[in-house]
Amino acid sequence: MLRRTAVVGLVLYALLIQTFAANAQQPGQQSQPATTPATTAAAQQAPARDPNDPIERIKDEGMNRSQVMQTLSYLTDVIGPRLTGSPGMKRANEWTREKLAEWGLQNAHLEAWGPFGRGWTLKNFSAQVTEPQTIPLIAYPKAWSPGWKGTLNAEVIYLDAKDEAGLEKYRGKLKGAIVLTGPPPEIKARFEALGTRRDEKSLLRLADAPDPTTIPRRPFQITPQQRAEGLFQAKKLQFMTDEGAALLVDPSRRGDGGTIFVQGATVPQPFVENPFATPAQGAPRRPSAWDKNVPRIAPQIVLAGEHYNRLVRMIQAGEKVKMAVNLSVEFQDKDLMSYNTIAEIPGTDLKDEIVMLGGHMDSWHAGTGATDNGAGVATAMEAVRILQALNLKPRRTIRIALWSGEEQGLLGSRYYVMQHFGTLGDGTIEAFRSTNFNQGMPPKMTPRADYEKFSAYFNLDNGTGRIRGVYLQGNEGVRSIFRQWLTPFREMGASTLSISNTGGTDHLSFDAIGLPGFQFIQDEIEYETRTHHSNQDVFDRIQADDMKQNAIIMAAFVYKTAMMNEKMPRKPLPQ
Ligand SMILES: [Zn+2]
Repeated sequence: MLRRTAVVGLVLYALLIQTFAANAQQPGQQSQPATTPATTAAAQQAPARDPNDPIERIKDEGMNRSQVMQTLSYLTDVIGPRLTGSPGMKRANEWTREKLAEWGLQNAHLEAWGPFGRGWTLKNFSAQVTEPQTIPLIAYPKAWSPGWKGTLNAEVIYLDAKDEAGLEKYRGKLKGAIVLTGPPPEIKARFEALGTRRDEKSLLRLADAPDPTTIPRRPFQITPQQRAEGLFQAKKLQFMTDEGAALLVDPSRRGDGGTIFVQGATVPQPFVENPFATPAQGAPRRPSAWDKNVPRIAPQIVLAGEHYNRLVRMIQAGEKVKMAVNLSVEFQDKDLMSYNTIAEIPGTDLKDEIVMLGGHMDSWHAGTGATDNGAGVATAMEAVRILQALNLKPRRTIRIALWSGEEQGLLGSRYYVMQHFGTLGDGTIEAFRSTNFNQGMPPKMTPRADYEKFSAYFNLDNGTGRIRGVYLQGNEGVRSIFRQWLTPFREMGASTLSISNTGGTDHLSFDAIGLPGFQFIQDEIEYETRTHHSNQDVFDRIQADDMKQNAIIMAAFVYKTAMMNEKMPRKPLPQ
């Protein structure tokens, strides 16, 4: 693919050179070729480019000397998955610190946050059906699942229960068994493409989105049906654990055709109705699989839907199914702290003020975290590499932050914001959980000294897709600024500004205390359908051209923010 693209590119380039030469050498041509309508329009749209303009230089460096794919390959192929707290994450912290220092960034260091909890590494895993016939299986352990020594050979039981009475039928029957935990998922044919880009309609919808600050905050609500389902799931997990099941097997809830989605092991605990409630609001502190002193959890794996469903049907047909499973893991609990990688390009006359950019480096473990979020990390790193290589001397200090703990609740960036810029409520990390700045933040925000020195944070964490614009996050004051900054990137398809909010990424940690934090609008590509938290989140699903453009746009935005006369306008603080 790469070769073919390169050949096509060369041919096009040769044709272009020929055309240019032919035009240039045309004898006896009219002395004013610009009078043809086509060239007049072209001249109006694209004024002569000044090669010394910093944005043109950023484009040139990012297009012609890009290192973004090399950076991403090392992070994903060589270092591999980067589960928070694990040795892979620490290695990524150290490698990125060295790389950023090697490129000439200053003050490259790791910043501890936490305590987070223990790390987890997979040492050995295999799973297959051994009776009544051999069936190799597509399966992955859940992160932080306990393991065992040797091979587990056990009968497979399908727990076919819809309520507590249904569970009772299995009392005394699960000890030492491999349990298929729930109903078989429906697998449908896919008639639509897995990969998509945003079309005009989708961009228009974003551009026309309502101002999130005008949407009233809705109290958390669940339906009686959701409550009943939540209660039953909590009871079922506790039941299977107490009954001594040797292994719990979930079907992949999304994905098919060999793609399976896998996250962390589930901890048995009472059903919590409102996941946003904080301990300060009286909610119980909920144990996580990475806690050092977690209640006992049963080993857990996820199985491809097609394989899961076959096993269910075999059991329903009266077959006695047995599986052989090896699952050996290692926990790391010497250092319960986790780390963000931080480095800077020092500013000049406004060097005490800060512009930040970043993405999260931690990933799930079944793939290599290429789209989530190696792509954002490699892009942010490439953006500062470009700025450093060009020696552009920004006025404000540019600081890159590569977060960890994002997958466990934006933890790395939330702790960072707490340590540097300001705290919420009772000053605990939990106080961030229920925050939605656009809909009124908790009453008490306590700023730290750097709160006033901060200008803006730019985040990239929606996969490999090219940047199509920016979510303004309810901050109308930045619209005209960003509109102007996007002008040189219209030809790359990045021109949409949406007043709306986007969730689930580290810019929210800044937004939570009223600091300008932005996530770019990106093309979807295969994020939801194939890569996001799946075993197929790997390097080959990355679009190299999109990555190059994204690094250029991110570099330009960060540079422009560092050069403004004023800091980035902020949203008014809620009363
Ligand atoms: Zn994620």
